[in-house]
Amino acid sequence: MHFVIFSCQLLGFLRVFAFSQAYIQISQEYLNDILIDRAQDRAAGEYNYDYNGDDWTGLCQIGQSQSPIDLLYDDAIKNNTIPRIQFHHYGESLRTPLVLMNNGHTANMVIPPTRTGQRPFITGGLLRGEYEVQSVHFHWGSNSSKGSEHSINFMRYDVEMHIVHKNRRYESMAEASQNADGLAVLAVMFGAQPQPFSQYYGLNKIFNQLPRIVEYNTNTTIPGQLNMAQLLGNIIVGVFYSYNGSLTTPDCAEAVTWTVFPDVINIPERHIMKFWQLKDSRGTPLINNYRTIQDTNQRPVYYRGVSSLFL
Ligand SMILES: [Zn+2]
Repeated sequence: MHFVIFSCQLLGFLRVFAFSQAYIQISQEYLNDILIDRAQDRAAGEYNYDYNGDDWTGLCQIGQSQSPIDLLYDDAIKNNTIPRIQFHHYGESLRTPLVLMNNGHTANMVIPPTRTGQRPFITGGLLRGEYEVQSVHFHWGSNSSKGSEHSINFMRYDVEMHIVHKNRRYESMAEASQNADGLAVLAVMFGAQPQPFSQYYGLNKIFNQLPRIVEYNTNTTIPGQLNMAQLLGNIIVGVFYSYNGSLTTPDCAEAVTWTVFPDVINIPERHIMKFWQLKDSRGTPLINNYRTIQDTNQRPVYYRGVSSLFL
């Protein structure tokens, strides 16, 4: 494995702030992944959340299998033969440091391989094949609005986290997004709790770094050891909604198998408020970065779980 020691000059836009050291070691592989992810976000062109996506054009406007949607227990096809989502290498420590970035649309984290070089991946649910984790980001509201993208039985939540995975059969995110079976996103809901302390070590570490990426195009590193499983808190992963939809950001590619967990992770309100401090590329508050609910258009929505009583 090759390591590069880099500083601002070596990396243009990517300024990695180190608090106790002048330089940070980041593997060349991880750095490349971050650059590719950044280029892809930029390729989507300028967009903002002034109208929660209602002004986005192209497929975002004319697509018939768009996301997010209302997930309704009563309308869902209950199918308990759908397998559970299997999490592979989710419990293995990731290579650190993880880089958290304000890309103007969200707080985004490209996920590196684990310390043993594995790419965490998922199988099961409605998925056919193996889907490798690529990145994690968040959608949030403001002091006057909740920020989840999906709603569950017409209920919206404070924050929705997306864990983006790519089908292993495709080389790149660009290629995957051109195929209906290209991407798998896990959606996890967060709710505000009045207690100031969080029991979720991994999530805590991420939220604590948000004040470091208030400005557009800034990034920071997350100290300590993290693994993917920590991001799931202790939600019941055996219960979920699943359907075929799209990316919720331009170009709104209809390439996503969505798995949305109705169980909620409760986090301190002070963490949720940290998201509201971020700014977009115009220097205006990056708030309410969720897309409007889209028409389901008769798409089947599946529900896997024992009973809604357990939610
Ligand atoms: Zn998202």
